[in-house]
Amino acid sequence: MQLQLQTWQEVEAYLQTSRGIILPIGSTEQHGPSGLIGTDAICAEVIAQGVGEAADALVAPTIAVGMAQHHLGFAGSMTLRPSTLIAVLKDMVDSLVRHGFERFYFINGHGGNIATVTAAFSEIYTARSLETASNAAPIKCRLKNWWQSQEVHDIAKELYGDAEGSHATPSEVAVTQFAYPDAIKSAVLDPPVAPRGDFADAADYRCKFPDGRIGSNPALATPEAGRRLCEAAVAAIAKDYRNWVAV
Ligand SMILES: [Zn+2]
Repeated sequence: MQLQLQTWQEVEAYLQTSRGIILPIGSTEQHGPSGLIGTDAICAEVIAQGVGEAADALVAPTIAVGMAQHHLGFAGSMTLRPSTLIAVLKDMVDSLVRHGFERFYFINGHGGNIATVTAAFSEIYTARSLETASNAAPIKCRLKNWWQSQEVHDIAKELYGDAEGSHATPSEVAVTQFAYPDAIKSAVLDPPVAPRGDFADAADYRCKFPDGRIGSNPALATPEAGRRLCEAAVAAIAKDYRNWVAV
């Protein structure tokens, strides 16, 4: 159930049955020569909508721009500063708290968001902890990276092995191919498996990973693999959500 397709009365009625909401968060950033700029937002969104259906949970609008400063050397990439993203997440959660939501389950599509989203949770909790007179119901936030369940890991290992890499991976490109088959791209990837390593800022990243990929061979992606990955992620995350939201 998408929040944006409900009326306010329907949301009030939902709150009589559940205090949980799912928030997809991604990024808008380069994903190599064959990956879509919206890959991380698309993966988070399509999996969050599947989880919402499987778990009868509301799904908030996708937060499509994340913390991606290291991708700014490539055209089309966008970032929020960590401090901006923290402020955005805090305001979104506070808005929903006002109406009675108490459980905030973020489904994440971008590794670069993890540190900032975790810091945002600390800001959200700290503001409440410092309200010594508050007797408001406790809230809880959870961050789930779509690619990190065992089931998804096993499929990626079986299909791609070490060519999965860590950026512009065949797994995430496959999920976008499943979601948007009309937007599948092909490109010459040279070398087929990209180099690995660390990076600091955007200039350093572009220098070390000139086509944008890290350790991956996204030419191995197929829409059928995307369907398998998507279904596995939805099943695992829906189970985790149901267990978590109930306590
Ligand atoms: Zn990505």
